[in-house]
Amino acid sequence: MLAAAVAGRTASGQPAQEAAALKAAIEDATAEIVKLIGTLEGEVADILEFQVAMLEDDALTEGAYDAISAGISADHAWRSALDAEITGYRSADDEYFRARAADLVDIRDRVLARLSGADATAKIAGGAIVAGDDISPSTFLAADWTRGGAIALAAGSPSSHVAMLARARGAPMVVGLGPLSWIGSPPSLALVDGDAGIVVFDPEPETRRLFERRLAAANAAQAAADAGRLEPACTADGRQIAVLLNVAAPEDLASLDPAICDGIGLVRTEFLFETSRGLPDEETQYRVYRDILVWARGKPVTIRTLDAGGDKPIAGLTVDGESNPFLGLRGIRLSLARPEVFRMQLRALCRAAVHGTLKVMLPMVAVPSELDRAAEILDTEFRDLQAKGIACARPPLGIMVEVPAAALRAADFAAAFYSIGSNDLTQYTMAAARDIGAVADLNDTGNLAVLALIAGTVEAGQKRGVEVSLCGDAAADTHLTAALLATGLTTLSVSPIAVARLKAAIAKVGS
Ligand code: PEP
Ligand code: MG
Repeated sequence: MLAAAVAGRTASGQPAQEAAALKAAIEDATAEIVKLIGTLEGEVADILEFQVAMLEDDALTEGAYDAISAGISADHAWRSALDAEITGYRSADDEYFRARAADLVDIRDRVLARLSGADATAKIAGGAIVAGDDISPSTFLAADWTRGGAIALAAGSPSSHVAMLARARGAPMVVGLGPLSWIGSPPSLALVDGDAGIVVFDPEPETRRLFERRLAAANAAQAAADAGRLEPACTADGRQIAVLLNVAAPEDLASLDPAICDGIGLVRTEFLFETSRGLPDEETQYRVYRDILVWARGKPVTIRTLDAGGDKPIAGLTVDGESNPFLGLRGIRLSLARPEVFRMQLRALCRAAVHGTLKVMLPMVAVPSELDRAAEILDTEFRDLQAKGIACARPPLGIMVEVPAAALRAADFAAAFYSIGSNDLTQYTMAAARDIGAVADLNDTGNLAVLALIAGTVEAGQKRGVEVSLCGDAAADTHLTAALLATGLTTLSVSPIAVARLKAAIAKVGS
């Protein structure tokens, strides 16, 4: 059972000394996190980068320093300032902000620990089931999840940083259970079913037996699917389906055999831009793109140009305060509005293209002129590199189909290929945001309206003789595999963890 750590501290009574103590504690806490980032990779490192950015934000610390000037001790001032922020985040309308509350708790406790000299990180034994109100990223990272274990939370959010970490580490986690109350000591046994979102404390022997049987069946199914993950994907009635990978960061490919896929269907390049180190230069981008192409050993690799905005704000690049960022300056719209950032990315891509089979894809395209303008910029940068004698190639340019207008008129676009972004296509078609739990039932790619737009795009691709793939989360939802293949799709792109299960589901289609 997790409980908040409380540590004592004697205040100096001198505002200047208290302010210096808080400043030092914040600097130490930041250094601690930066050190931790050095030992981590990819998404996990990005999560902690977010905490560093928060600690470096004057707007967060200002309130505490003001209180110290008014005679409050450093620890009380910090706690009240952070508690006020945490309350604000917890009651935010936007799920994204509610989900970040646990990061603020983490920051609060880390700085308080530095002020009092105590270690506030709760210790979790490997293999344990953690029950509590919420769990901070630091606490999660302090445990060894390779030894099993699970998390049951009274509060929490499926889109929190801890939920992302739990998914990446394969730790079952259930959130939103409501108050965890039991009389006397905590339960000695809990069953956590991450698939069904159910937790049973102190189960009856029969419930336990049934759970263990289901667990064994799930483990056997996963093992069977894993065994087939290097095989090509083929339906029961003999249709070959290309299975590609979605890559959110290069680390996703570490220790992965390229034989598990037919190529890479989506590289989300946002990871390069989301760090606290500022916008990446051409050389940094070139090396990352080149390494992904080299990994693929000649198989096709589709890299998407920056898709900032919407639910992916990037400091210094995206527009703050848009009334509806999902309908604002995001994706290709932002790239065309900030051509200097776009040009640099296209140059890096042209240079990387000589190392494999590169395709470049534009996000959030709504009208053909966006593709045409992007193609002109790509041609200009390619010719400029050529004129300078720099090794480069001009990659084919395709579009994501994720705006209903593009799906309805797909054949009008001079695209070298189409890739359906079912996450956005679904939210824009159903007018149900992808990050609002209350409308999650409407945010359904299996809805006939969405499937009709997918089928129409496939038809446009066939008519124009260009490839159509689907790279949104629906590709990994095995309940939808038959419906998606019925639209005529022959290429699906999913995250590496979903490949085995998808191939097993494809094998059952048409049986
Ligand atoms: C999509 O919208 O389906 C997609 C793949 O893009 P993202 O999830 O990055 O917006
Ligand atoms: Mg999208």
